[in-house]
Amino acid sequence: MSPARGLLTGTEPSFSFEFFPPKTDKGERVLWDTIRRVEALAPAFVSVTYGAGGSSRERTVDVTRRIAAETTLRPVAHLTAVGHSVAELRHIIGRYADADIRDVLALRGDPPGDPNGPWIAHPEGLTHAVELIELLRDLGDFTVGVAAFPELHPRSPDWESDIRHFVAKCRAGADYAITQMFFHVEDYLRLRDRLAAAGCDTPVIPEIMPATDVRQIRRFAELSHAAFPEDLAHRLEAARDRPADGHRIGVEYATAMAERLLSEGAPGLHYITLNRSTAALDIHRNVTTARSLRAR
Ligand code: FAD
Repeated sequence: MSPARGLLTGTEPSFSFEFFPPKTDKGERVLWDTIRRVEALAPAFVSVTYGAGGSSRERTVDVTRRIAAETTLRPVAHLTAVGHSVAELRHIIGRYADADIRDVLALRGDPPGDPNGPWIAHPEGLTHAVELIELLRDLGDFTVGVAAFPELHPRSPDWESDIRHFVAKCRAGADYAITQMFFHVEDYLRLRDRLAAAGCDTPVIPEIMPATDVRQIRRFAELSHAAFPEDLAHRLEAARDRPADGHRIGVEYATAMAERLLSEGAPGLHYITLNRSTAALDIHRNVTTARSLRAR
């Protein structure tokens, strides 16, 4: 079986897209329009994020199952341990298995409400993502992905412990990882070097966030603790009343990042779509056009 059990091709870089469960009927229509456009590109997989709580979690399960049933896409279900008992997690995993979904991104999740607030485990739940990987491995033949953090997990005291815990996730059965968003290629390369030095060769797919709207991106960057490049922020700021220019600037920046990551040997690219196709698909088109021109 090729790397990451068929999710990565092993020869060509994979590309994949991330969606979130929409809240409204209009959001649902926008998402499905994007899903159909993405489907035409035959990506390696698409993933659906797991909500922080309540009904959005149910919507994740619904969207993921519908993608599996109604499209040719391979859906990866994000699943977080936070706020769930082990019995509830078993039940959700069972629903995925019933729908023939065997791909799960196993995450701990952040405290609902304040993602930076104190972590409190469910009394009958799990404390770290590694335990969710073990649960998935116990329950069936799942392909399991995990999170990786090019700028250090915000709760990690140092790189030594962060790498040690990441390697433990790989030893517990993680097949691949997807990174948190980041905006400096060097952060990804340093993470990869640290993992190689620890003897870990699990493929780590960089996540590509199109930065086209400075207000939105600053909010995401704050939540994810990603350092946002000041020069890019200034250029987007200057274009804040000209959305087409903001789009072009963000797509150019992300395209350059994506091309450099691939030239440095990244195993693939995972594009955040925010359920809209334009920026992610423009970046993807630029990257594939440049690669096919070089291959001639
Ligand atoms: P863990 O691997 O458990 O790590 C959390 C912290 O604990 C780290 O500091 C780690 O070093 C430390 N640690 C790990 N194991 C141990 C141990 N055994 N003992 C002591 N310390 C340990 N959140 C959502 O709510 N929904 C989503 O859909 C979602 N999707 C994501 C997708 C990606 C690609 C990424 C990168 C993140 C996503 N997140 C999502 C956010 C994620 O849930 C948070 O970043 C969370 O804080 C970390 O999850 P983790 O799985 O890395 O946790």
